[in-house]
Amino acid sequence: MPPGRPGKPFLEWCAENGERGERLANEFREELPTELTKASKYKAKWKCLKCKHVWRAKMKDRTRSDKPNGCPKCANRLPASKTNNFLAWCEKNGERGKKLSREYVDKDKPPTAVKKGSKYKAKWKCSNVECKHVWRAKMKDRTRSDKPNGCPKCANRLPASKTNNFLAWCEKNGELGKKLSREYVDKDKPPTAVTKGSDYKAKWKCSNVECKHEWRARLNDRTNSDRPSGCPKC
Ligand SMILES: [Zn+2]
Ligand SMILES: [Zn+2]
Ligand SMILES: [Zn+2]
Repeated sequence: MPPGRPGKPFLEWCAENGERGERLANEFREELPTELTKASKYKAKWKCLKCKHVWRAKMKDRTRSDKPNGCPKCANRLPASKTNNFLAWCEKNGERGKKLSREYVDKDKPPTAVKKGSKYKAKWKCSNVECKHVWRAKMKDRTRSDKPNGCPKCANRLPASKTNNFLAWCEKNGELGKKLSREYVDKDKPPTAVTKGSDYKAKWKCSNVECKHEWRARLNDRTNSDRPSGCPKC
């Protein structure tokens, strides 16, 4: 073994590991395989022989004997099984898993028949007793580790923050946003202290110069993406 390079060179390991070794050698997409050892932590590039998906994974995770990593795309397509299903995932994911398994109320598919990475739009019921909102969301969006989806109703009730407030929303919503931020004339609450989904009946002033009518309307009615309410006089 050369000093400073623990482990067997990757290609040598492949040659000694039959079909599996051959497959890994073929899926390996790096320029200088001789430099890398089978136990390296280097995140190498791989291309799935089955589905052609290209991804990066550590050498050591692909070559280890216990639960080696495979193509993530193929793994997602595998049907749910006794060990690979949403409920099993919940049981391994502490408080978050508990919450999700409680909120899963889909009658069409039991939680053992779907997978955490599925695109299936399951039915969920908010576990907040004051909310109990029922909605549909993809499995993968609720279980992902980075910004998972939560109850949309509770999200609307979150207090306004630096990034989650009516003014910030206006700035991201083109013409409608411009118009609404111009028409918002509420003196009690600045536009940064309310959220676009709030029930608060704010004061508005019509931006039509020939009207200038003032009225009160809920923020969530005026920002509604389907049919935002407008000036009652106009
Ligand atoms: Zn694949
Ligand atoms: Zn909720
Ligand atoms: Zn008007």
